[in-house]
Amino acid sequence: MNQIPLVDLKAAHAEVAHEIRAGFDRVLADTAFIGGEEVRAFEREYAEFAGTAHCVGVANGTDALELALRASGVGVGDEVVLPANTFIATAGAVARIGARPVLVDCLPDTLLMDPEAALKAVGAATRAVVPVHLYGQCADAGELAARLPSHVKVVEDAAQSQGAARNGRTPGSGGIAATSFYPGKNLGAYGDAGAVVTDDEETADLVRALANHGGVAKYRHDVAGFNSRLDGLQAVVLRAKLARLAEGNAARRAAAARYDELLAGPVSDGRLIPPVTARGNVHVWHLYVVRVGDAERDALVGKLNAEGIGAGVHYPAPVHLTPAFSHLGHGRGEFPHAEQAADRMLSLPLFPQITAAQQQRVVDALTDALC
Ligand SMILES: *Cc1c(COP(=O)(O)O)cnc(C)c1O
Repeated sequence: MNQIPLVDLKAAHAEVAHEIRAGFDRVLADTAFIGGEEVRAFEREYAEFAGTAHCVGVANGTDALELALRASGVGVGDEVVLPANTFIATAGAVARIGARPVLVDCLPDTLLMDPEAALKAVGAATRAVVPVHLYGQCADAGELAARLPSHVKVVEDAAQSQGAARNGRTPGSGGIAATSFYPGKNLGAYGDAGAVVTDDEETADLVRALANHGGVAKYRHDVAGFNSRLDGLQAVVLRAKLARLAEGNAARRAAAARYDELLAGPVSDGRLIPPVTARGNVHVWHLYVVRVGDAERDALVGKLNAEGIGAGVHYPAPVHLTPAFSHLGHGRGEFPHAEQAADRMLSLPLFPQITAAQQQRVVDALTDALC
């Protein structure tokens, strides 16, 4: 039986294999393992793609978030507002600084952070708000920034939204955003990698220093930092894949539109809720997340997986219901939209190379199994 993975990394690799081998040879010949020409070139190219003045390549997306938060002035004891419906790393980056994650609910339709709830959660100790551009579409970071008091910065979690925009604004423009190049992301490395993008030069310099032991030059340490650098081999991979990212995102949009069509039946008879795109969004479909009945979700995932279909759940527990963040003291019922979504969501296979026939098989299997 042919498998349909959630993300087909083999198909993605086949498109760039030659280019990557040639690039690896360049790096090996130069022994430019950390930093170097490939990294600088990638940073220039990604900044241009992202529509920001600066890009700093770092070791992974969680570090990128931590660095963006630190460079925005977040320190020990500060509060940072973020959505309960996100990947755990958003809260983890805040916790590692010694700051306190303040969780808010998501909107019931798009499942993005509720901006009114975020504004209400802001207090005297709040230093930053982290809108998460979940599943490939942007939360309204621009409007949020305009409405926040001046002591609070917006730090965008753009790990899932490479190439997305909202009302013409891209993540990080006019502010700061962190992204991840984990292999399964829209732009994926062959290992861990991430980046911080910003329009502000001083902030970019600070991120670069913090990520390199606090040094602006070798053995000159102005601030206490740590080590989170992008390596040359990953930059080769990222450059080759970045050149195809716009095309890949367009293919994801086409595949999402095809799912919308194929799922029209179960949507109209109320058995399934399709993903909702907020107005003004250019969605890049990192994930195609539908919602089904909470009593049947786990069984559906099991049935699809048994048929070789890589359906997943992103994510089965909102941040406040994970043991790691139980000390925040929230119980079930406090963030009902995030909780309900976590019980009902189901991610369908989606990647640029997915075929119409594969999507038909996914939908046939899903509709057969739906109550
Ligand atoms: C992937 C991801 C991260 C973390 O990135 P890593 O590179 O895995 O550290 C953070 N936030 C969100 C929303 C993510 O999807």
